[in-house]
Amino acid sequence: MAISQREFAEQVVRQLTNAGFTAFWAGGCVRDLLVGREPRDYDVATSARPGQVREVFGKRRTFSVGESFGVIVVLGPKSAGQVDVATFRSDGNYIDGRRPESVVFSSPEEDAQRRDFTINGMFYDPIKKEVMDFVGGEQDLVAGVVRAIGDPHARMKEDKLRMLRAVRFAATFDFELDVATAEAVQSMSDQIAVVSAERVAQELRRMLVDRHRGRAVELCNDAGLLLRIIPELKAVVCDRECWTQLHKGLASLVEPDFALVFGLLLDSVIGATEQAGTIDSRLSEVVGRRLKLANQEIDDAAWLLRHRRAFDNAADLPLSRLKRILANSLAPDLIALVRARTLAKGEAARDVDFCEHYLKTTGRDVLEPSPLISGDDLIKAGFRPGPKFKDVLDRVRDAQLNLQISNAAEALELAAQFMPDND
Ligand code: ATP
Ligand code: MG
Repeated sequence: MAISQREFAEQVVRQLTNAGFTAFWAGGCVRDLLVGREPRDYDVATSARPGQVREVFGKRRTFSVGESFGVIVVLGPKSAGQVDVATFRSDGNYIDGRRPESVVFSSPEEDAQRRDFTINGMFYDPIKKEVMDFVGGEQDLVAGVVRAIGDPHARMKEDKLRMLRAVRFAATFDFELDVATAEAVQSMSDQIAVVSAERVAQELRRMLVDRHRGRAVELCNDAGLLLRIIPELKAVVCDRECWTQLHKGLASLVEPDFALVFGLLLDSVIGATEQAGTIDSRLSEVVGRRLKLANQEIDDAAWLLRHRRAFDNAADLPLSRLKRILANSLAPDLIALVRARTLAKGEAARDVDFCEHYLKTTGRDVLEPSPLISGDDLIKAGFRPGPKFKDVLDRVRDAQLNLQISNAAEALELAAQFMPDND
């Protein structure tokens, strides 16, 4: 029978316990279970050493990741995925502002101390159904507080990524940041620069697709992180109206993908700097490369920005123009972006309503009909292939989308008119 990840994670604890070791679920999965969320993944913490973990589950079903941290991945059945099993440990000195230099294997109490926030520092025994909380995590979870374990300054200094994690947990759980923890982040927010762009981007993605994305942006700004990560937003942050509008826009997006939210952030930058004449049409490229986003994310956001005003006076646009835009797979995102901006500015939604309705009621065969002729047809008709072909075919395509021609004969006739005389 197919077992779930949760059942498998329970089996892992049971097997370790039966082999004479202590084993608990640990960290984020305990937090999620206590607030009634589905954990993204289950982590097990145990007294077994990495080699012993591999003996219990067999070499073939395990592999070691981050050898020096003592983390072993245990592979479950297909339906269950995998569970990370880590030996209880304390972290040694931190190097490079991200990673401990060494670790020593230790007790559950000490293992809790190395974790970042109290809500992430609890253990759960799925067999006895008992929470083990050495850090006051349950209390903070009930109160809705993200609080660093131990001295917030020291903890943020060890690992600068924790600054962003603090904001992410506060935003996505709609929790408060503990005052001392928030102060620690503020006091060293410039240090976020030592964290790799990839890890920063990972955190950004998770914050921005979440429905609390507006609060995440707010908290990042309060913490002094936002403009360190995307300095281009300065013009928006400094303009109360733009800032308010950005928040309204962010709140109006429904389950957006990251590129759309990223696009909306940059759209607000363009909106805020337009008067100053400092539009950078390559904004997505510039910011996206710096954040080491995926090419697809950068390209998608760039397309949205290139078309940010494409729906202006939509009902008067040539059909060829409208259809080309709406046939793009990003059209629903563009509609969402334009709608978000329109709503936020309190403007009439006529144009975007028109486009959305047109997209909804127009069949794919009308929006994106098969071309009437190809380059091969032009060659067969006796035209010499050349750089002119693309332009001619584009104009023929326009005529087709504008419903001016409807068959191959008409298309060829039109193409002949567009061809230079002597060709
Ligand atoms: P989510 O999986 O929802 O992002 P999480 O808390 O499970 O949240 P993970 O990155 O999966 O986050 O880490 C699992 C646990 O490992 C955390 O709950 C925390 O106890 C510990 N942990 C992760 N990253 C850090 C860090 N940078 N510093 C200290 N402890 C950490
Ligand atoms: Mg996790």
